[in-house]
Formats: sequence, structure tokens, C-alpha cells
Amino acid sequence: MRVYNFSAGPAVLPEEVLQTARDEMLDWHGSGMSVMEMSHRGKEFMGIAAEAESDLRELLSIPSNYKVLFLQGGASAQFSMVPMNLVRGKKSADYINTGEWSKKAIKEAKKYCEVKIAASSEDRNFTYAPKELKLDSDAAYVHYTPNETIGGVEFNWVPETGNVPLVADMSSNILSRKIDVSKYGLIYAGAQKNIGPAGLTIVIVREDLMGETVPGTPTMFDYKIHAENDSMYNTPPTYGLYIAGLVFKWLKNMGGIEKMEAKNIEKAKILYDYLDASEFFQSPVARDDRSRMNVPFTLKDASRDEAFLKGAKAANMVQLKGHRSVGGMRASIYNAMPMEGVKTLVEYMKAFENA
Ligand SMILES: *Cc1c(COP(=O)(O)O)cnc(C)c1O
Repeated sequence: MRVYNFSAGPAVLPEEVLQTARDEMLDWHGSGMSVMEMSHRGKEFMGIAAEAESDLRELLSIPSNYKVLFLQGGASAQFSMVPMNLVRGKKSADYINTGEWSKKAIKEAKKYCEVKIAASSEDRNFTYAPKELKLDSDAAYVHYTPNETIGGVEFNWVPETGNVPLVADMSSNILSRKIDVSKYGLIYAGAQKNIGPAGLTIVIVREDLMGETVPGTPTMFDYKIHAENDSMYNTPPTYGLYIAGLVFKWLKNMGGIEKMEAKNIEKAKILYDYLDASEFFQSPVARDDRSRMNVPFTLKDASRDEAFLKGAKAANMVQLKGHRSVGGMRASIYNAMPMEGVKTLVEYMKAFENA
């Protein structure tokens, strides 16, 4: 029996995708092989990769002057790859600091350039998305985290950065809402939150930003090398890419990003409406900046946390424990979390509150 899995990542995948993967496990489309056993340079896998890319391009309406790269190393490798490739002789980069993931990105960037903090929400314990930005028109780029997975804070707008390229770590909200890719210089995301299995990292990068790396940049950390080789400079994470491709097809069958976004708004509303009405549960995040994907909440009486988690598990809901840096609970309700999962959680919370 499958559970409702509220994990922040690796996270729930659409059941239909897992069923297709199971059906194709031993023999992919009459090839007599599992996708895991295929040469990445064979025509079968080249086809899988090309289709995944074209479906992703269609879902996000990615303009033709952007490259899509399928890499490894997680979003964490991008914390270094971004400055290595995008500093391009400039002195500094602007970073918006909104929590745990921003902080890690900042720490890494400091190895390659001066980091200027354009805005920070640290004054209120990272519970909101700062609106006022202090931007440097000579910065190499502006980096932000549109959805802070741990704090549950999401930007509902796109920072305006003029001619300075905007870089976004969309690990936990990519494909959850409509975006205008042309507003960004670069978008990156680890796959294990809202796309597919861990091990695949997606980068969407404007072509003119590639080709000028800091001295000493390893070949594997050069976007241009990956772009010129269609992400096949070395062996890509083939199975992860195949599953991501199945997820893209699933999204297309569901009606695309707009449909998905409407569903995500509805799912988040059910949970937040209950949190706001409840005497017992609370959301720590500023109302306008609440994440649709990651919903942290606390119990008024923290001594009942363990009982809450135990009861949830008995009711078939797992991974609700909050991140150690925030405490309390966190329900991650990514694209693949069914409406029924959120409703079941809220019913359980009501029963727990009223018990
Ligand atoms: C999970 C996460 C990361 C780290 O991802 P890895 O793939 O484990 O390196 C970075 N940024 C955000 C916003 C995340 O949610």
C-alpha cells in the first residue's frame, strides 16, 4: 500500500509515472533492455533525452536562445557553477538572502567574487520575502531562491533586475507555476523535489551567458562544454532523465503548467485556510509569501509533536516532521501530491485538534 508522502525531497512521484517505469523496466519499447542498461549514445536513449528536452521546452515555453542542460551534482553544485560561469570578469554579484538555501549559495559564491546582499529577511527569522532590493547595476548577476524549501517562503513576483541577469534556484517550485523564462538569465533545479529522482539537475541558461569561466574551472563545471555536447560530454544520469521525461509527459497529459498551478493553488489553500482557522496549529510565514509547495506549521503545544507524527503515520501519512532548523511540522505538497493527500492531512489535523 502506498502512503501519502509529505517529504521535502526526494519526494513523491506521480503513481502513473512509477507504473509506466515498472511496465518498461525490463524491456523498454521492444529494445530488449532496461533504460538503465542503454548506451547514452545509442539511438534509443538519445531519443528519450531529446523528447524529455522538447517536452520541458514546451511546458515552460523556453525561448530558443536558452539551452537546457541535464547535469549532476544537485542544486548544491550549481552554487559554485553559477559564479564560476557567470562572474565574467565582474567584481561582485548580488544575492537575496531568504533562508537556508540562499545562505549556502552565498557561502559558495564568496569563493569567486564579492557577494553583496541585495536584501535579507533574516531580521524576522526568514519568514517573509523581502520586496525592497538594493541592486548594483554593475553586478555580474542577481541570485535568489524563489521558493525556500525549509522556511516555506515563496516569491509571488519576479525581482526586477534591469540588464543584470537574474539567476533562480527553482529546486522546489519549478514546474509548479507559470514562469516567463525570458525574465531569467539562468534557472537551476535539483530534480528530486518536483521533477524526478535524485541525481539529475536541470539548468536552463541563456546562451550569451556561457563561455567565460573563471580560471581553473574544471571542464565538468563549464556550462558551455555541456551545451556544446547536448549534455552528453560524459555519461548523463540516464535513468533519472528518463523518469523526468515521464513526469513531463504526465504534466502535459494533465493539461500543462497552468492546470497544475491551479491545482497547486487549491491544494495550498485547503491547508492554509485550516491553519488560519485553527486555534491549535499555526503557520509562521507572512501571509502573502507562503509557499504553495512547502508548508511549515507548528503545534501550539510542542510537547504533542511526537504524538502528532505518530498518529499521522498510523493514518498513512509520513515525512511530516519539520526541518531541524525550524522545528514543528512541514508538509511538502509538490505537483505529485494528490488533492486527496492534502484533504486527508487536514481531516487528521482537525481530529487531532479536537481530540
Ligand atoms: C534541496 C534544495 C537544494 C539542494 O539540492 P541538492 O540537489 O541536494 O544539492 C538547493 N536549493 C533548494 C531550494 C532546495 O530545495
